[in-house]
Amino acid sequence: MIRTLSEVLTGTKQVSQCSEEQVAEVLQQADAVLIGAGAGLSAAAGLDYTDEAQFAERFPGMLQYGARCQYQLMGYPFPDEALKWGYLSVGLDHVYHAGQTPVYRTLRQIVGERDYFVITSNVDRYFHKNGFAVERIYTPQGDYERFQCFSRCHEGVWDGKPLVATMLPHLNKTTQFIEDRSTLPVCPECGGPVFMNVRGGDWFIEQPYDEQRTAFSEWLSTMHDKHLAVLEIGAGFNTPGVIRYPLERIVNQLGKATLIRINRDQASGPAGTLSMPLAADEALTAVAGAMGYNS
Ligand SMILES: [Zn+2]
Repeated sequence: MIRTLSEVLTGTKQVSQCSEEQVAEVLQQADAVLIGAGAGLSAAAGLDYTDEAQFAERFPGMLQYGARCQYQLMGYPFPDEALKWGYLSVGLDHVYHAGQTPVYRTLRQIVGERDYFVITSNVDRYFHKNGFAVERIYTPQGDYERFQCFSRCHEGVWDGKPLVATMLPHLNKTTQFIEDRSTLPVCPECGGPVFMNVRGGDWFIEQPYDEQRTAFSEWLSTMHDKHLAVLEIGAGFNTPGVIRYPLERIVNQLGKATLIRINRDQASGPAGTLSMPLAADEALTAVAGAMGYNS
């Protein structure tokens, strides 16, 4: 699809908004629902990596180093492991202890008893926590709950939750450093730095997600003659190769699939796309209402 110069410059396109009734009708008539979710969905659930106010509240000790939001620190080469984990463990602890959230619950309600599969670039396990079955979720970008060797000296991954719980009591909230360095996690094989098992470079270990990738493609292979509602939520142009473009290809290849694109700033799509240029919570609440659910 060729984008106009103004679209390229602004990263957006004026789209005509479809009604929630149109979306509700497609979902109600669907044999199955494929959900593709990006950062915009978890942002609506309170995990907004670009939110500066939330950052200042959650990581006050980071402000003195010039940091203003979590997105800015993705891939940041921390000079000291004690600061790296003083920062990361606070964010991870928040994600680990997140419970059910209204926007994910509304989405679960919309899917109802229909057959479904989820592919998401989010690594926060919010789908798992809101009633979606683990065997129906594919997270190609990794998982915050798993840790791995940062230099990939071996292919193992392990549970990060107890390590975060061990570090946090030693957090100095003023400096954001973990003061007891003996609690910092190290690779059990090489003794070097570790990181979450998330796609951030060549070091990312993908093997833990192979099974779900296979399950996803097997599920898709059964959808050729089905009315498939492809519900894409909050997946923009940061990593469009993970959710956005693959879903467009899927809709193009399957004869009876309809793409519903919920995206506040970038809701345009190929011909036939039902676009909702709204925040995820606003759009899903409207659709749920049109389907007769009172959330
Ligand atoms: Zn190692």
